[in-house]
Amino acid sequence: MRDLNRMTREELADFIRKNGGTERQELIEESNRLRLLSYGRDVYTRGLIEFTNYCKNNCYYCGIRKDNHNAERYRLIQEQILECCQLGWQLGYRTFVLQGGEDPYFTDDRLERIVHSIRTAFPDCAITLSLGERSRESYQRLYDAGAERYLLRHETANDIHYRQLHPKEMLWDNRRRCLWDLREIGYQVGAGFMVGSPFQTPECLADDLLFLKELQPHMVGIGPFIPQKDTPFGSYSAGTLEQTILMVAMLRVMLPAVLLPATTAVGTLDPLGREKVLKAGANVVMPNLSPVDVRKKYLLYDNKICTGDEAAECRFCIQGRVERTGYTLTVDRGDHKDRRVSYAN
Ligand code: SF4
Repeated sequence: MRDLNRMTREELADFIRKNGGTERQELIEESNRLRLLSYGRDVYTRGLIEFTNYCKNNCYYCGIRKDNHNAERYRLIQEQILECCQLGWQLGYRTFVLQGGEDPYFTDDRLERIVHSIRTAFPDCAITLSLGERSRESYQRLYDAGAERYLLRHETANDIHYRQLHPKEMLWDNRRRCLWDLREIGYQVGAGFMVGSPFQTPECLADDLLFLKELQPHMVGIGPFIPQKDTPFGSYSAGTLEQTILMVAMLRVMLPAVLLPATTAVGTLDPLGREKVLKAGANVVMPNLSPVDVRKKYLLYDNKICTGDEAAECRFCIQGRVERTGYTLTVDRGDHKDRRVSYAN
């Protein structure tokens, strides 16, 4: 197989356009080999707490965008978030991901208190934040309060495409700045993008890969675009599982030690989507820990799965899926291999 790390933008785009062509199977085998080398058969879990679906932004693809007046809004208070963590800890999660829209209610002071309370109550757990674009000062304060990881999908590394997916006040340069700030502060950084989003070309995906090579993030979330009916992109077609698998495998080969989640979105496209992506090089799953009564309200896209199950059901469902695929779900913080921290359990 040709070396993806030596390919030009045009060659990468051509490889993507042909879906890997005759080299696809070899690519997937190589991706698996590299994952085994870095992480063995371990699959790491993150307990996802979707704590607010308010957002001040209007990304054209997102079901909780500000102008979607059909979205039923909610926020969890600090005590509810801590209850989710407590349940998660009992279920064996050692990473909590606090995810939300860009909700101005959650000021730095409020978030600092939440992060600090989790850090104090669960010293052996990693705290990941996914709260969108903030100032460098804000990222620093949350890091100092005890957060160690931050997920901020870049969505597309092509400036023209970025403007096709976002309103004019949202800028690719600012998204880029945020990711570099997070890296410099010391977070384990997660970037990521949608596969098959409107107006995306193979060249855009090649730009994503080249940008990620430059950023060297610790984690990359890759999921198919799935339309949400109340958004400007509600009538566009979804991305495909086949192309998502290709991108996961290409990324594993280009960044061998990166953490790659099998996202809920691939499970929405295909009942066995997560298993298929795990077999192509992914090694992280993110079951939902949010209270069941708010799950359906965090609808970034239509037909999202796992919105009706209790946290314990999600935990054991995902364990079964991982084990049937030949891997092991671990009780571990699941740090990037270059950033391992050891804690006595
Ligand atoms: S993608 Fe994020 S920033 Fe954009 S509207 Fe949705 S929640 Fe807000």
